[in-house]
Amino acid sequence: MVSVLWFRRDLRLADNPALLAAVADARADGDDRVVPLFVVDPVLWDAAGAPRRAYLAASLRALDEALQGELLVLGGDPARVLPHVVRSAGAGRVHVAADFGPYGRRRDDAVADAIDVPLVRTGSPYAVAPGRLLTADARPYRVFTPYYRAWLAHGWRAPAASATDVRWWRPTAGDGLPSASAPAGMVLPAAGEDAARDAWATFREAAAASYASDRDRPDRPGTSRLSHHLRFGEIHPRTVLAGLGPDDDAFRRELAWREFYADVLAVRPDSARASLDRRFDEAMPWASGPSADAAFAAWASGRTGYPLVDAGMRQLRAEGWMHNRVRMVVASFLVKDLHLPWQRGAREFMRLLCDGDLASNAHGWQWTAGCGTDAAPFFRVFNPVRQGLTFDPDGDYVRRYVPELRHLDGAAAHEPWRRPDGYAHGYPARVVDHAAERAVALADHRAAVG
Ligand SMILES: Cc1cc2nc3c(=O)[nH]c(=O)nc-3n(C[C@H](O)[C@H](O)[C@H](O)COP(=O)(O)OP(=O)(O)OC[C@H]3O[C@@H](n4cnc5c(N)ncnc54)[C@H](O)[C@@H]3O)c2cc1C
Repeated sequence: MVSVLWFRRDLRLADNPALLAAVADARADGDDRVVPLFVVDPVLWDAAGAPRRAYLAASLRALDEALQGELLVLGGDPARVLPHVVRSAGAGRVHVAADFGPYGRRRDDAVADAIDVPLVRTGSPYAVAPGRLLTADARPYRVFTPYYRAWLAHGWRAPAASATDVRWWRPTAGDGLPSASAPAGMVLPAAGEDAARDAWATFREAAAASYASDRDRPDRPGTSRLSHHLRFGEIHPRTVLAGLGPDDDAFRRELAWREFYADVLAVRPDSARASLDRRFDEAMPWASGPSADAAFAAWASGRTGYPLVDAGMRQLRAEGWMHNRVRMVVASFLVKDLHLPWQRGAREFMRLLCDGDLASNAHGWQWTAGCGTDAAPFFRVFNPVRQGLTFDPDGDYVRRYVPELRHLDGAAAHEPWRRPDGYAHGYPARVVDHAAERAVALADHRAAVG
């Protein structure tokens, strides 16, 4: 019987267990046709933000090419679309990789109810599926390091074999590939499975060996830039893990953060929007009103007067990506210097990040705000100037994204206030005094959650 392979966050053909299951299933019943389906779900599409929509559209084009133009794309609520596809194909089963996100689970349950054939879940976007690992007393992990130890001890499967001679079949006319373009001025990375493999190969050859020392340097191409590829499943973490050696611990650990946060979100779906430590939402005197809005606008547009913060926010607007170290610095600045709730920054990130991922984003923000999984509580406050001098010591990163500071040599780009010509090209003055706001943040936190 024909089977349907419904692609979602797994836009690839290699190392795809759900694809193998769909093919085996079809062949077992003497019919080898597989319907490759993607549903443009308005709930996800509308929420995605222009960069992620444009990236997804490009990734679907690449997938369609790999499928010899047979990708069936339909728009609408999956609980309505899937029954229609199953009926028109005469399909016996629908195959997917399991989705552990709050919306994805609800959607899949609704689809399973709506179709009169089984919805078969094989694999997930993770090396170790969320919910698999539990502490010795059978609880979910809330702290990274023990999770990481358990994750290593559990291990993961080798990459799945490639499916060969698949007979892709499109039983009905589709709505065509969606089209979407990136916001003006933003250049997105190449999308698709080939681009993902190229990025991975380039990183392995050029940067993996120095990852542990360079990963915190935004001025260097020291990280893999795999995040959007992993986000859309153009490459599976299993494939990446299989290519790592004993010296790649630092990189393996970062992949494990992605899995840890997915695990935390699966157990606490409310933590997508609410602080794990609820006191942060209920008792903190967060700034609001017109002056808070103005501060947020300065932050979002990269005009706070703090060079590393501004370079980061401008990198986000230029590329739909930001270096991890700088994500932490800009997040800390929003929460601790501007006294705005993390959720506001997280929404802006989700609007602009090409790799925007509910679990990694919400928990990256909560980690920085001190209300999430981090064992160190609220009193870690990043000093945006010191972070710049330490991790961008020659000022190259700042000059790349902030043209008003290009006339300042070396580390001087981090402290324009020290130079008579520092503001000669229109760079804004600092919107707040870091030392003063740090003291306010610590006092507020001590009173509310200390
Ligand atoms: C406030 C904040 C928000 C974030 N939002 C997102 C997000 O929406 N989507 C996202 O993929 N990552 C997010 N991260 C994590 C991290 O910044 C990015 O994964 C990383 O910068 C991507 O670049 P890379 O692929 O070159 O990373 P590399 O350093 O090469 O790491 C390899 C992979 O490991 C994973 N990874 C690395 N660091 C982390 C981390 N701290 N948390 C979770 N996964 C990690 C990513 O999948 C990444 O592609 C966020 C971090 C912070 C502090």
